[in-house]
Amino acid sequence: MPILLAIAGFLFLAFLFGPRLWVRRVIARHGADRADLPGTGAELARHLLDEADLRGVPVELTGDGDHYDPEARAVRLTPQHYDGRSIAAAAVAAHEVSHAVQHARGEPAFARRLSLVKQLVWVERLASVILMATPLVFLLVKSPALAILQVGAGLALLAIRIAVHVTTLPVEFDASFGKALPVLTRGRYLSAGDLPAARKVLKAAAFTYVAGALATLVDVARWIKVLRF
Ligand SMILES: [Zn+2]
Repeated sequence: MPILLAIAGFLFLAFLFGPRLWVRRVIARHGADRADLPGTGAELARHLLDEADLRGVPVELTGDGDHYDPEARAVRLTPQHYDGRSIAAAAVAAHEVSHAVQHARGEPAFARRLSLVKQLVWVERLASVILMATPLVFLLVKSPALAILQVGAGLALLAIRIAVHVTTLPVEFDASFGKALPVLTRGRYLSAGDLPAARKVLKAAAFTYVAGALATLVDVARWIKVLRF
């Protein structure tokens, strides 16, 4: 029985952390600098934004993961993709620029995602408070049933987080394969031989948020961070 429990525990952890490890490994595997590529990720992002008539959208350096910030209307790239001249840098830059294009065009799927993610902030805070308060309530009330109920409620709220990210996958796939890949192909920013690798990075980029949401389900450090606002 303990062996079965250990296997179940391992599978559960693999389910939670496997996707994030996969996303990181795929992107890192294609992160080697290549002198023959026409520019860095930041240069490509700037060029693509200008081409899309989005000169007002800045390309900034971030330490907090590659992303497009819809509040600031800015494309943000991590140092290895901002200064990097790699297939990963080109693919990630094109992916994040695609979100700026979705936003500028007012695409309904992007707008829906934006409002859902805004509501998610409250779900996360509520879930954190419930989960953090559980030990205290247990100490005060000494009712295991109440504590189990609380943990259940907290986990259900966190599951909503994953569900929201899953429903936004079409927006991510449109950014990667509806926009970034055709742009990279048409503009000849990458050679035909590099496109299969770019495709893999674009797929990983599309799954980043779902993978991150799974991993943060048991990330207690993050709950504490969320509590700090
Ligand atoms: Zn994305």
